[in-house]
Amino acid sequence: MAPRHEKKQVIIVGGGVTGLTLALTLQHLGIDWVLLEAYGSVVPAVGSGIGLYANGLRILDQLGIYHKVAASGQTTESMNYIDGTSGELIMRRVMKSLMVKRHGYINMFLPRSALLGIMYDAIIDKERIVCNQKVKRVETTEHSAFVYTEDGTIFEGQIVVGADGSRSTVRREMWRNADEQEPGWIPEQDRENKPCEHMCLFASAAPVKGISAGDLVGSALPGKAVGLMCNPDNSIFWFWFWTVPPSMRSVSLDQIPRPSEEDIQRELASCGNAIVSATGIHMSDLVQTMEYQGATALPNYVLKRWHHGRIVILGDAAHLFNPLVGQGANSCLESAAALANVLHEHLGPEVGKTNSWPLRKLSTAFASIEELRVSRLEFMVNRCQEAMRMVAWESWFPKFMLKRVAPLLPLSKFLNSYSDLIVDGVALNDRFPPTAAPHEWPYPEERSDQTGYSVGAKAGAVGAALAATAIALSFAGSGWKNLHIGISNLSS
Ligand SMILES: Cc1cc2nc3c(=O)[nH]c(=O)nc-3n(C[C@H](O)[C@H](O)[C@H](O)COP(=O)(O)OP(=O)(O)OC[C@H]3O[C@@H](n4cnc5c(N)ncnc54)[C@H](O)[C@@H]3O)c2cc1C
Repeated sequence: MAPRHEKKQVIIVGGGVTGLTLALTLQHLGIDWVLLEAYGSVVPAVGSGIGLYANGLRILDQLGIYHKVAASGQTTESMNYIDGTSGELIMRRVMKSLMVKRHGYINMFLPRSALLGIMYDAIIDKERIVCNQKVKRVETTEHSAFVYTEDGTIFEGQIVVGADGSRSTVRREMWRNADEQEPGWIPEQDRENKPCEHMCLFASAAPVKGISAGDLVGSALPGKAVGLMCNPDNSIFWFWFWTVPPSMRSVSLDQIPRPSEEDIQRELASCGNAIVSATGIHMSDLVQTMEYQGATALPNYVLKRWHHGRIVILGDAAHLFNPLVGQGANSCLESAAALANVLHEHLGPEVGKTNSWPLRKLSTAFASIEELRVSRLEFMVNRCQEAMRMVAWESWFPKFMLKRVAPLLPLSKFLNSYSDLIVDGVALNDRFPPTAAPHEWPYPEERSDQTGYSVGAKAGAVGAALAATAIALSFAGSGWKNLHIGISNLSS
């Protein structure tokens, strides 16, 4: 029997945040798509919490699902930094009103499964989502791209989008196609090992007295950290991070390691003494009622090349964040929006009605995504990595900066390190409804010069250092000169 062969314009591989966001944008643009997911459902029954910021929320708003997300989410009421060894409250920041004023939306968090469920519900033609279809091979040719799945089905499309996460098969296949057809296309840098300084395990826990809905906690310890968010019902999502030995801090993208059972048991046994509130709640109080969700290594990267031929990669397949700050999924939303925008811009408003998308136009369109996204993402990924180092401190310097310098910052300066990650975000173009939320800091499409707005991105070394001081504190490691300049400018 001949294998089943289906034709669509866009074949999306992967039904996570990136794949579902893209599916919703294509639905709106009238483009014919199918989404292939390896597992039996795109809405997992379990999972951790996911934090959303204005850069992601405004895209959800344009897609018409913001109100549902907001109804299921918990807004961030306060951020509490604790010395995890002594229990000292380093600082408590209430950021809600200033963030709304600046960016139009307040940060919130909700279970990842709830976000995916809301996205899935908004898909009109659910048959376009095909589960239990694990992709094993991809081919790109002059006129079509072909996707082969493990059950023998072949999907043919104008483009294939790898939204299949950090262990992406589509990325591997894109590299193979490029090596065969255009050796040298993939920069060596992309294939080099990537830094992986931390691992984490994540779980949920029953309510504990002293941590209430909307509290975010960052508890800092030598080489370890706790991140914690408290849900509307006072249940808790928590993350335990640990720094890996120097010999393990470089990983191949083809073989991203997983924490071993021994790692997990060791960390669970040792995390109990960490203090997560000024009232003396210990991690052991949370471990007692824990529902274990998973553990993962935390490499970080931004690849330079996202496309070859008719294949393009997005989301964690192309850019991976340390999750402590919570910009990974928000950036997936932005990258999916960027692809929808360029398809419309480069192939014209009739893009949904034609089945011959010229390769030349696609190459230009895909290259423009890299141009738009790579430098912003490098800035963001570095900031988030620095934030992780600042909390899981390994030397006196980040500890001093977090405990003694950051608390001196006025709220507006403290929040710059969050705003910097938000304000240059990509939104969907004018084929989608504009967002109405009033805000003081203009987004890129509202600025005439289109240059980066973020304090850190535009201000050079000293400004960047200042902007980062609050949590990312990006002058960590840049020595006494910046430290001195930074401190003398704190109140300006
Ligand atoms: C512990 C933790 C906490 C986080 N917290 C936050 C947060 O608070 N805020 C935030 O913004 N981000 C957060 N992130 C990051 C965020 O979760 C990710 O950036 C985002 O979910 C990635 O989405 P994705 O769709 O690109 O990839 P994934 O979520 O990995 O989805 C990929 C999908 O592709 C499927 N797939 C894989 N291979 C194949 C194949 N061969 N064929 C078919 N399907 C395939 C997978 O089954 C999966 O469904 C966190 C990450 C972690 C690990």
